[in-house]
Amino acid sequence: MDRLKVFTAAKIRTMDLGRPEASAVAVSDGRIVSVGTLETMKPWLRRLPHEIDDSFADRVLMPGFVDPHTHLRLSGIYMGLNYVGPIDSTDPQGNRVEGFSDRAAVIDHLRSLVDRRKNQDLEPIVAWGYDPGMQQGHLDRNLLDAISTEVPLWVIAYAPHIVYTNTPMIERIGVSSESRIHGLGRFPDGNLNGWFIETEATAVASRPVRKQLFKAGFGLKALELQGQVAVASGVTTTADMIYGIESFGREWDDHQNAIDAGLLPLRMLMVPFEVRLRKEFGDDFLEFYATMKAKATDRLAVHGVKYVNDGSYPSMTLRLNFPGYLDGEQGLTGEVPWPDMVERMLPFWRNGIQIHSHANGDETVDMTLNTLNAMQNIAPRFDHRFTIEHYCISTPAQAKRLAALGGLASVNPYFVHYRSQIHSESGFGPDRSETTARLGSLVDAGATFALHSDYNLVVAPMHPLTAAWIAVNRLSADNETVVGPGERISVERALRAITVDAAFVLRKDDVLGSIEPGKYADFAILDDDPCEVKPLNLKDIPIRGTILGGEVNLAAEN
Ligand SMILES: [Zn+2]
Repeated sequence: MDRLKVFTAAKIRTMDLGRPEASAVAVSDGRIVSVGTLETMKPWLRRLPHEIDDSFADRVLMPGFVDPHTHLRLSGIYMGLNYVGPIDSTDPQGNRVEGFSDRAAVIDHLRSLVDRRKNQDLEPIVAWGYDPGMQQGHLDRNLLDAISTEVPLWVIAYAPHIVYTNTPMIERIGVSSESRIHGLGRFPDGNLNGWFIETEATAVASRPVRKQLFKAGFGLKALELQGQVAVASGVTTTADMIYGIESFGREWDDHQNAIDAGLLPLRMLMVPFEVRLRKEFGDDFLEFYATMKAKATDRLAVHGVKYVNDGSYPSMTLRLNFPGYLDGEQGLTGEVPWPDMVERMLPFWRNGIQIHSHANGDETVDMTLNTLNAMQNIAPRFDHRFTIEHYCISTPAQAKRLAALGGLASVNPYFVHYRSQIHSESGFGPDRSETTARLGSLVDAGATFALHSDYNLVVAPMHPLTAAWIAVNRLSADNETVVGPGERISVERALRAITVDAAFVLRKDDVLGSIEPGKYADFAILDDDPCEVKPLNLKDIPIRGTILGGEVNLAAEN
């Protein structure tokens, strides 16, 4: 350590329980040396040459936000397709693309795409962003055949758990009503309805459009775009929760190249998708971890393992206990059969590889807790940090059981605001919709949890202060109705869930998540102190950018 850089601020909200506030932080070699005031850190300043950076003297510094569940590369790739979603989005150049209000508008748009290409070859039209909840009903084979029975149509939902296709696309994919694939959708008479649900079926559906999806070289561009979104929302660390979905090698290289080129100002953890891990490496997957450990840096590393065990909230494919969906729908389990779950997870559990298990509906939360319980009986462990991802629809009893088994939750709270009113009428009904993301119950049970965005694969932004705002206020989309008022949590607890507790969920709280000596010098630069503003204004605090390992990244002026 030969030099110090000292950042001063109007306030530093450290998230260190013992020393919650400060006004100066000294940094060297990307790590924090001292936190306090210019006065208190004099013993350091007297001994080492230093410069004082007061460019943020009237701002507030917090620990860089940790969003522990995103899909940045995949999201960027979807952004390159024809967009048919309900909210405004951006194209790969960062230009605004307008959303479509309902299903009829989407069908009109798809028809215009078909018309525009009448005399060309019959390459499939590939679209992304459909939202059956907000756009009033699913698409299916009949609706898409009414657009064209010649041009193959391939539409993936915003939450990409369903692909909708027409007859020529089904033929291109090469399945028939005799095919036995998990997640192949059918009409009541047994004929295919054009749906491909969950990872096994969507992978089959994706084969003929792979070239269009994974355009050469686009992965790097996708990451550059998403890196800017992260800076503007104060995020300095995230985890890609479906590493290997396209290719372990290409995905790693894109991230490494983006970091080396200075295009991705983030720390990234790559969480392998178990199904792909086993497909590629068979029973030798532990060797993959050993190889990747040798490549790890403080910016890019492989972490844990990911399971997807039911469908999604916005596409209404999660699994519910009694009384189920309003219209008797069933949702779908993931492609690993539930009875095999203990056997599939045990090797990871025994080898200390942290398990991140996606469970959106309460039936899936039960299955996941049963699995954790069974593994605890077979091979008891402390500090395993087994994490339920999303935890959208749950009960207070499940929160208690999760805590009793030593499990954690990484919760998506965005649906409370953006979707609880939609799904009160469509899908889950009022009781489940109002109690989406039961954070108060987790606090009551003594469970540790994080808040995440799942960006950009559900219809919500990546913006941790908005996640905290929802957790604290639980205002639905009308901005008046408070849903599940007893599930609201304190500002302090919500801020922990986007900083130090989110770092805990990724087993990185020894080096991330608070402003303490020894940790990485990762900060979010804000205009106001989240603990001082009215809780209703939390999400509106302007964010100027981030500091990552002591290096400043300013957000583009907006
Ligand atoms: Zn996800």
